[in-house]
Amino acid sequence: MKPLDGLAWTNRFAELGPAFFTELPAQGLPEPHWVAHSLACAALLGWPADWTSRDDALAVFAGNAVWPGMRPLATVYSGHQFGVWAGQLGDGRALWLGEVDTPNGPHELQLKGGGLTPYSRRGDGRAVLRSSIREFLCSEAMAALGVPTTRALCITGSALPVRREAVETAAIVTRVAPSFVRFGHFEHFAHHDQLDALRRLADWFIAAHAPECADAPEPVVALLRKVSLQTADLVAHWQAIGFCHGVMNTDNMSMLGLTLDYGPFGFMDAFDPGHICNHSDDRGRYAYARQPGVAFWNLHALAQALLPLLDGEPEAAGERLLEAVESYRERFAGQMLMRMRAKLGLAGDDAGDQALADDLLKHMAASSADFTVTFRRLSRALTDPEPLRDLFIDRDALDAWLARWRPRTAPDAQARMMAVNPAVVLRNHLAEGAIRAADQGDFSETERLLKVLSSPYDEPELPSDAALPPDWAQSLEVSCSS
Ligand code: AMP
Ligand code: MG
Ligand code: MG
Repeated sequence: MKPLDGLAWTNRFAELGPAFFTELPAQGLPEPHWVAHSLACAALLGWPADWTSRDDALAVFAGNAVWPGMRPLATVYSGHQFGVWAGQLGDGRALWLGEVDTPNGPHELQLKGGGLTPYSRRGDGRAVLRSSIREFLCSEAMAALGVPTTRALCITGSALPVRREAVETAAIVTRVAPSFVRFGHFEHFAHHDQLDALRRLADWFIAAHAPECADAPEPVVALLRKVSLQTADLVAHWQAIGFCHGVMNTDNMSMLGLTLDYGPFGFMDAFDPGHICNHSDDRGRYAYARQPGVAFWNLHALAQALLPLLDGEPEAAGERLLEAVESYRERFAGQMLMRMRAKLGLAGDDAGDQALADDLLKHMAASSADFTVTFRRLSRALTDPEPLRDLFIDRDALDAWLARWRPRTAPDAQARMMAVNPAVVLRNHLAEGAIRAADQGDFSETERLLKVLSSPYDEPELPSDAALPPDWAQSLEVSCSS
């Protein structure tokens, strides 16, 4: 019986052949139940709102069955973790289900937490409910904020115990993206001198996901430039909303410039350029202000991996790749300035805009002003500056800044700013509230938050969703354990 009418599975990644993956079934969740599902993600796929009630849907997304045409497999990749070559990694708990045609083009589906694979190393192949809820909510929240991201279709859960620092329960998130190919896929074959496979992957990726690069004099250089520009756009988005990824290893960098692998991520509360969201990142390699530089470093790792594909003398080929990576800098700076201008509601361009934006961030840092609340209150500060002033210790300094800012604002600044400075982001304590309820079997807070996060620029019904975080939020620690 057809579970959803007319689904066509194209599975182009599987055409690459066995050097790139291992085909295997998921280890499903015993006695699974639904935890949550995203109507917006279902709509992206063109699936009906009631798709979760179709035959076998729960079994499929808990890893216990497949629909005809799906082809479960785990892919192999390597990567640099915390700046060091980490060797082979791969889908240790993600399972590629297939690629399906949608009204928005082909999309791949992946189970995360679907059990052991040949790449699980010392892991158990599982994901816990806590981290699955975080990934699910943040994926959909980022999409609603307009940030490029992998999507999350649903979560299934089970009583199956999973050991982390404490014993938790297992869950599976289904992720959706046009492609899950990472920088690390290319690094893998380059590191092992598997030139044929490397070339095959590059040719395949260009044909499937970057066809405009095929006509360039050097398609691989064009691809690197495209990835560099998309990555610049992505990181500028992150910086502009105070998002910290937490684990910007090259194996977590998407070849499509998507936010990928939601682990110990965090939205900044009090603004601190050195903010480290990942408790396991003791040196702060992935601190907020370092993210743009890390992305640039990661692009160099990708360039290194692509080098063997270029013709001619290696030194000259390297120069051409470096030039492509260099495009990141200007694009990032331009995108960042464009986003800051929008956040400040500025009219047109002025040479002093960069300094204006930088100075506000300095005052915010000096006062540990909340990132999201500051920009939201600034959006109303032309008519009502007091709530903004309340966030700052040195009010004279802020007033002096406001006096510079006011004459630069556009006539419709307030409306424009409210449309780019979100009221609600997935702060750790909001996610924690949903997780604590879910651990008691109550998924209503997950559903409610999903709804609130789906319109982040609207004032939420519950003022607490947009309020400064409670004191207990500071004691929340998020680590790589998920
Ligand atoms: P991450 O730090 O999430 O990017 O994961 C790095 C690597 O560890 C990837 O190869 C993952 O597939 C793998 N991994 C993470 N958690 C698990 C787990 N619980 N079981 C198996 N592999 C895992
Ligand atoms: Mg990862
Ligand atoms: Mg991860």
